Amino acid sequence: MSATLAEPRVIRAPRGNELSCRGWQQEAALRMLMNNLDPDVAERPEDLVVYGGTGRAARSWEAFDAMVATLRTLADDETMLVQSGKPVGVFRTHPHAPRVLIANSNLVPRWATWDVFRELERQGLTMYGQMTAGSWIYIGTQGILQGTYETFGAVARERFGGSLRGTWTLTGGMGGMGGAQPLAVTMNEGAVLCVDVDPRRIERRVQTRYCDRMTDSLDEALGWMDEARKSGTALSVGLVGNCAEVLPELVRRGVTPDVLTDQTSAHDALVGYVPAGLSLEEADALRASDPAEYQRRSMASMRVHCEAMVQMQARGAVTFDYGNNLRGQARDAGYEDAFAFPGFVPAYVRPLFCEGKGPFRWVALSGDPADIHRTDRLVLELFPHDEHLRRWITQAQERVEFQGLPSRICWLGQGDRAKMGVAINDLVASGEISAPIVIGRDHLDTGSVASPFRETEAMKDGSDAIADWAILNALVNVASGASWVSFHHGGGVGIGNSLHAGQVIVADGTPEMRERLERVLTNDPGMGVIRHADAGYETAIETADAQGIRIPMRER
Ligand code: NAD
Repeated sequence: MSATLAEPRVIRAPRGNELSCRGWQQEAALRMLMNNLDPDVAERPEDLVVYGGTGRAARSWEAFDAMVATLRTLADDETMLVQSGKPVGVFRTHPHAPRVLIANSNLVPRWATWDVFRELERQGLTMYGQMTAGSWIYIGTQGILQGTYETFGAVARERFGGSLRGTWTLTGGMGGMGGAQPLAVTMNEGAVLCVDVDPRRIERRVQTRYCDRMTDSLDEALGWMDEARKSGTALSVGLVGNCAEVLPELVRRGVTPDVLTDQTSAHDALVGYVPAGLSLEEADALRASDPAEYQRRSMASMRVHCEAMVQMQARGAVTFDYGNNLRGQARDAGYEDAFAFPGFVPAYVRPLFCEGKGPFRWVALSGDPADIHRTDRLVLELFPHDEHLRRWITQAQERVEFQGLPSRICWLGQGDRAKMGVAINDLVASGEISAPIVIGRDHLDTGSVASPFRETEAMKDGSDAIADWAILNALVNVASGASWVSFHHGGGVGIGNSLHAGQVIVADGTPEMRERLERVLTNDPGMGVIRHADAGYETAIETADAQGIRIPMRER
């Protein structure tokens, strides 16, 4: 990294509707690359790190500068090729082709380990692109809040008739991602008790209005939960405590929540999880003096934590794993029943994937919040009967602060994404929206990811590790005319564990883009519908039939 240490570079995307490139397609890629490194968006912009460990937007500052310079001169019939965050070529293509093609962090399977990857990264040959860091469509914490809102919304629909009103949820962890849980539950109208061992984590969530109250008294917390549940009030409470102590105590008392999950950093026994019986200071001291003993205690505590969850599940709590590998750690610690409760994807997210639903998002290139507010109204106009969507949009307007260029996310499915994209393009054409809108999504989507520990865990036909789907997704997005397309390895769950694709398309108000939007936003989620139909999911087969998606071996 060549940034001068004395004076770190501060990158912000240009605003307004004046072009610094030769067309809006190139301008959009330029602004979104820069927006990913905006200090209000990125976690460590000085190191080009956007989020998720070391997920980068560019490999080096030289590569960043070269990409910016190339985008500024790129013609409307040229395509820039990016190899793990470095621009490596420009080819003449055609006006409807993507302006940028990106491949990040890919390794031949036999070499796909962290050790090999880190060595190649050290040599400057690759970078870690995560999912939306290296594909220039990260929008800050709104993404995790919405994803968590969707998961609890799916729990509400499947188990409690559509709302969490009158229920209470128990969970752990209020860190970077887990901190979205209290607000996501109250947005679904429920009460939630969130246990974190570190009071500073809870305080931060109270200050930013993600959590309503905090206490270090279990009795007080339970009293509040009881009142909220009885009166049907949405309430979030942070309890200072260790899950491996609090949960067994609740089991002893015979207290059972309606919904139970966990987002402590259980995936990391040394730096993530805090063992029972230690203060934070004692934990820090033991981690430094005797890491092996720390991990032994941490694993033993995770076993106790997981055992208590399984006991509460047996007493009726709707219980699921939230992607932190608590079950795997507990099993490694000798607990055979650790996998008694399911992961959140097979249990709650997959049914949404079967309808082509996933984290659809858009960004106003003008930088003007009024443009996003107009799209918020558009969502309510287009989908007036979707109560879950209305609740999200209304509360997001009130509670979510924009980071970098104003943006919005909501989960839309097959048919609705195309409808929304075309309608946004029409608003840009009529001038109701002041500059083009970029439309994209996470790689964690219905038909774009192969990830056996998360998105494709426990597929009905056992096809968890089949990655052809993710590659077909990237190819069909190129063929359909997305503005930029990316193919990555290792996002979310790490090197060796996932392959995934992304697409972004620019609604610039032209008739050509209207056509491309219709096509891309039909075919991209359509990949998820056919992937799940192929695996034998009934809802996906019904969605394909209802939406007229052709599946050759199902045609008579
Ligand atoms: P983080 O490290 O920022 O926060 C973890 C929190 O857990 C900290 O506040 C810590 O104080 C608390 N904690 C640790 N041990 C505890 C204990 N024994 N009792 C109570 N609190 C304890 O991590 P994060 O970014 O919030 O992510 C949390 C976990 O969720 C990670 O394992 C991550 O991989 C996983 N995750 C999964 C998904 C997904 O699959 N959708 C998404 C996001 C995060």
